[in-house]
Amino acid sequence: MSLELKGLTKVFRNYGTETVAVEAFDLRVEKGQFVTLLGPSGCGKTTTLRMIAGFEIPTSGKIILDGADVTNEPPNKRNISMVFQSYALFPHMTVEENIAFGLRIKKLPNFEVKQKVKWIMEIVGLIGLEKRRPEQLSGGQQQRVALARSLVVEPSVLLLDEPLSNLDAKLREQMRIEIKRIQKELDITTVYVTHDQIEAMSMSDLVVVMNGGRIMQIGNPFEIYSKPKNEFVADFIGKVNLFDGSVDNANNEIADIFCSVFENKRISVPNIFSLTPGQKVKIVLRPEAFKLVPFQDEERINLIRGKIISSIFVGAAVECEMVASDGTVFKTTISNPVESGIPQPGSELKLYFSNKSLWVIPEAN
Ligand code: ADP
Ligand code: MG
Repeated sequence: MSLELKGLTKVFRNYGTETVAVEAFDLRVEKGQFVTLLGPSGCGKTTTLRMIAGFEIPTSGKIILDGADVTNEPPNKRNISMVFQSYALFPHMTVEENIAFGLRIKKLPNFEVKQKVKWIMEIVGLIGLEKRRPEQLSGGQQQRVALARSLVVEPSVLLLDEPLSNLDAKLREQMRIEIKRIQKELDITTVYVTHDQIEAMSMSDLVVVMNGGRIMQIGNPFEIYSKPKNEFVADFIGKVNLFDGSVDNANNEIADIFCSVFENKRISVPNIFSLTPGQKVKIVLRPEAFKLVPFQDEERINLIRGKIISSIFVGAAVECEMVASDGTVFKTTISNPVESGIPQPGSELKLYFSNKSLWVIPEAN
């Protein structure tokens, strides 16, 4: 089933104040797709999910489920399941009873309830825990029960609101893989909410980056990371350097950008950004874009020189804060320090980067 949100808007009015929680939200989720709403706390993720589920009525806009307008349908008429951050399991019921709950409400015959509960318990990995109560389960197991309870009714769309935030780091990583496996196995259309960019990147077909109730960018994880549309997206998804530049020359093919951070004070980029002379830009370079210039090699075009302010060894890499010759502070990640050695504060590094790892954000005038 496909899900379509058209101009979805929610304004909360409380005690004379207005909060625009979600504004002009447009999104299309295809059958079987895993879409993640990613953004900082308060950006409107939960409100969007609650509107999709029917717990919140939009101020304006439409929700289309498989071609049918369900904007004003109550939750139980939508065939949409939602997993909450808190799991919301019934404490007095066993695992089995918790999972069967939705089927009992639908008044399914007993044998069918048993069959379906067993089916979903196998898929989510809960066999053997049928008779336990929630308090007798680990966090990860409770999470699986919540997931099973939502999935057993075979919803058209599954909604998950920060489902892993109560788990420790190791378990979180494991459940990311599990949820993804189950989602693929059942081919279920999923809208997932998180403020964790690693979670979003590693699980999603499509990521919707939100801020202040608005969509900042929609794209697959690779696009979101390597081709951010604006500074917010660049900065929210991982670590980034944003260097000030201005366009010197530009034609349809090539743009020359002045930027004082670089040794040559200039870089040339393919003009896929439609840059025009005089335009201000931000040059986007991730810390891992920089590589050490091999000894005695001087013929690099994209060169940057800097002095190390601080360096942190994190095993696979050294994360450095550096200052360039023009005084700009920037971040680099030097990989494989076991081979190259750990650069120490005060020492100078000569680095280069490929045009492929560079991105440009034209600034709004
Ligand atoms: P998120 O899930 O991204 O953290 P929410 O959707 O919960 O964000 O909230 C978005 C904005 O709407 C916030 O500013 C929040 O305070 C506000 N908000 C959410 N629910 C209500 C409500 N019932 N009444 C008033 N304001 C609300
Ligand atoms: Mg929330």
